[in-house]
Amino acid sequence: MMSKPDPTDANEQICPLCNKLISKHTPEQMLECSKKLQNVKSEDV
Ligand SMILES: [Zn+2]
Repeated sequence: MMSKPDPTDANEQICPLCNKLISKHTPEQMLECSKKLQNVKSEDV
């Protein structure tokens, strides 16, 4: 087995909107990105 970091930690995930680690986001960026993500999702469905 490979020992890779657990991807279930949200802070280790890469934001699909800005391609940065979510842990690198400022609180404002987090808000903007999560808003955009929700918009994308609701449009997609
Ligand atoms: Zn982002």
